[in-house]
Amino acid sequence: PLPLSIWAKNVSPSPTLAIDAKAKALLAAGEDVCGFAAGEPDFDTPEHIKEAAIAALKAGKTKYAPTPGIPELRKAIAERYAVEYGFTVTPEQVVVSPGGKFNCHLGVVAVCSPGDEVIVPAPYWVSYPEMVKLAGAVPKFVLADDKTGFRLTPQMLEAAITPKTKMVIINSPSNPTGAVYSRAELEAIVAVAVKHNLYILSDEMYEHLIYDGMKPTCVATLSEEAKARTITVAGFSKTYAMTGWRIGTTVAPLPIAKAIGELQSQMTSNVTTFGQYGALAALKEKEKTAAAVKTMLAAFDRRRKFLHSELNKISGVTCLLAEGAFYLFPNIASFGLKDQDFCARLLEQEKVAAVPGSAFGAEGYLRLSYATSDEIIRKGVERLARFCATLK
Ligand code: PLP
Repeated sequence: PLPLSIWAKNVSPSPTLAIDAKAKALLAAGEDVCGFAAGEPDFDTPEHIKEAAIAALKAGKTKYAPTPGIPELRKAIAERYAVEYGFTVTPEQVVVSPGGKFNCHLGVVAVCSPGDEVIVPAPYWVSYPEMVKLAGAVPKFVLADDKTGFRLTPQMLEAAITPKTKMVIINSPSNPTGAVYSRAELEAIVAVAVKHNLYILSDEMYEHLIYDGMKPTCVATLSEEAKARTITVAGFSKTYAMTGWRIGTTVAPLPIAKAIGELQSQMTSNVTTFGQYGALAALKEKEKTAAAVKTMLAAFDRRRKFLHSELNKISGVTCLLAEGAFYLFPNIASFGLKDQDFCARLLEQEKVAAVPGSAFGAEGYLRLSYATSDEIIRKGVERLARFCATLK
């Protein structure tokens, strides 16, 4: 066969999607699988959001729209940053893209050139290293394990910087660990980024999925210098159970937002036009949206606490209580198995699907998503305990 490109050869397909696909195939074949692999809410999109998209579809919102988003939605996104964080941005600084994954990708491509280095704190979301490589840049990993609460310290960041470093990626609340940085911790990290004149890609996809009364921090609002160098990504997928809609958002300094819009104009054009009206309803019909989010958040919080306490009852497993997102990241290193083997055997023996920590650059852990039913969590953790007992 004719050779493929270096881009095709170098890309690693998403391990989380692959494991989830395997679990779903087993389920379809009639197996009783407990899936902890999928990073998506088990809830349906709230009704009023669906209705708004249906109405838009019926009203003929079926044509091309401006690449960076319909004006009403860009304005509503700018307004919500002002209301939630006191962050003043113009609609021109907002770009709506087909899924937060693509917003992150364009953020990297807009500022990184071949040979540039990007600091990717591990455990990392599986897509960051790949999007950095697809820009011709080089991911540089810094592991922050459970001893530092999975949070990068300013010293660790400082030590990883070279003259080639162009950007650091921050993801709080984090996928895969659920860790949330405090405002003070982020200020210290931003100070290092400012000192070395780095861009910051702040992936705030899980900003609203946060527990124990903690408040999310919008990194760009930490200082004028932060604002000038931060590309803020967020979106609709996780907060509003809209993963299949493919709508994400970027807010960035104007020249970067413009560049991102221009790149997108040659890559995908606009996000599905009628879908954007659904997203608009999510932001505009505030009371209905808040009620739906509250219900989902209460369920996630209940499951988080239950799963966390059950995991820590298992001899050999230790798990931090994450403050955000819908993941827990228990340490399973004491069993002396490679985490990939652990997950393969767990699926084989007990029909429990979990993603190995090594997929996120951290060997010796599991990522468990608790965005699934209470019943599956209860059953799944029971099986996990039984499995662990066989390893002792
Ligand atoms: N960022 C993080 C940390 C994520 O976990 C995800 C989804 O898994 C995304 C961004 C992208 O979300 P989407 O492309 O579904 O909008």
